[in-house]
Amino acid sequence: MLYIGFFYKFDGGIILVTHSLYSKSQTFSCGKHVNYSLKSVFMANQELWEKALASIELSISQANFSTWFKNTIILSLDGGHIVIGVPNGFAKEWLENKYQNYILTALREIEPSISGMSCSVYNPQTYTPPTENSELPPETTPTPQQPNPHAQKESVVPQFSPQKNTHNLNERYTFDNFVVGEHNELAKAACVAVSENLGKIYNPLFIYGHVGLGKTHLLQSIGNALIKKDPQKRVIYITSERFTTELVESIKSNTANHFKDRYTNIDLLIIDDVQFLQGKDKTQQEFFHIFNSLHQQDKQIVISSDRNPKAITTLEERLRSRFEGGMIVDVGSPDLETRFAILREKAEIKGFYVSEDTLRFVAENIKNNVRELEGALNRIIAFSELKKQEPTMELAQAALAEIIESSKKKAVQSKDVVAVISSFYEVSPEELIVKGRKKEVVHPRQVAMYLLRKELNMSYPGIGKYFGGRDHTTALHAYEKIHKLAGEDSRFSEELSFLVDRLYTV
Ligand code: ADP
Ligand code: MG
Repeated sequence: MLYIGFFYKFDGGIILVTHSLYSKSQTFSCGKHVNYSLKSVFMANQELWEKALASIELSISQANFSTWFKNTIILSLDGGHIVIGVPNGFAKEWLENKYQNYILTALREIEPSISGMSCSVYNPQTYTPPTENSELPPETTPTPQQPNPHAQKESVVPQFSPQKNTHNLNERYTFDNFVVGEHNELAKAACVAVSENLGKIYNPLFIYGHVGLGKTHLLQSIGNALIKKDPQKRVIYITSERFTTELVESIKSNTANHFKDRYTNIDLLIIDDVQFLQGKDKTQQEFFHIFNSLHQQDKQIVISSDRNPKAITTLEERLRSRFEGGMIVDVGSPDLETRFAILREKAEIKGFYVSEDTLRFVAENIKNNVRELEGALNRIIAFSELKKQEPTMELAQAALAEIIESSKKKAVQSKDVVAVISSFYEVSPEELIVKGRKKEVVHPRQVAMYLLRKELNMSYPGIGKYFGGRDHTTALHAYEKIHKLAGEDSRFSEELSFLVDRLYTV
């Protein structure tokens, strides 16, 4: 049960529960030590932060979001003041100065008692969250007492979080500010055509391509163009991950019908990053029904994915064939000239003058994707503002040194992964690749498969083949298992970071 602002009588005095978002994790303002697990406080804080991040992500561009909010956590929340852990001084300046309002607004929507914030630099590599063992001294544990019956009860976790705009679109993404090059002109043309002929020409429209190449931008532009033309149109933009979460919540709270109605009474449904439906059978079933219902009413569906529908393993066949029944277009990587044009457009939008030479330097060095390109520009702008210097070439070189270094990653090959893993786990490359199901080799092999996917972006069938002709599902299973383990076990996660470092440095 969740209460806000009630009093405990304790030890002859009164303490006010200043923040009680979570049943197990209250912070007390009187300075007395109380036996509440630091771990549960930590977990609750991270949950709060994840919810806030989900909302911040909708209000700023993806590039800014990933540049400044990556590796941030809540370090503490005390007396309404929140301390956010950031990985460097740069992010600290930026979050405190530029994003303070966004952050506080997002946090207060979830926890209204939050009054202020600051940032503190921490090291994500070495930081270990508090564990149950780090509980505070038990001697002053209060006897649990009934909360004041007159206190206001309030659930702060609504079933369906009320959104100001129900469509979830970020109005910054428009066709006007989308730069066209050879790599994306077909995709853009298809999106524009869909926005002008809703439900009539390409339904569904399926856009796929690697991360950071403008899929979300294009998808959201369709929604924004539509609403601009006709504000009465009902649009929902949602990522498939969020779709899954909402579905699960609706089932838990017996509001699945409400959920279905919400998604079938609209004109345009945009589902981003549909690859995350992979393996989620129940969600796929529900999505299939929603899809059919909209399709039958000639309502438009637009989908994105990081790969072709054929390559989404464990996607229900009937769903795959629905996807393939519409129009499928890919977005590729921009060439040098387009990268340059995108940078010029972004600098202009930000109202920041950067010389052509500097922009060219960035375009030549950041090749992977547009998100990184924009992130690089953001860094230059931030450097320039913080140092109060013009964004000269030297400044750009200093600002980007780290990023350019890490983008050299491309040179790593599959044999390097095998070499690093076999020396670390002390198994021979031959054992790793072909032999046996012994526990001592299975785990290292799964880690190797994971790294091949994550770092080298190898396909699952390719990985299966590389490991002595195994099936692609073995590679997929390995990836998912290691990914999950890294999320659950911080020591293992450190081990992985170490292996990745070795991969690029040895
Ligand atoms: P994806 O969804 O493919 O991962 P995004 O749409 O999030 O990629 O794009 C990443 C960033 O790059 C966004 O800020 C987006 O505005 C920008 N971007 C990508 N392609 C273009 C383009 N052609 N013109 C302008 N901005 C672009
Ligand atoms: Mg995207």
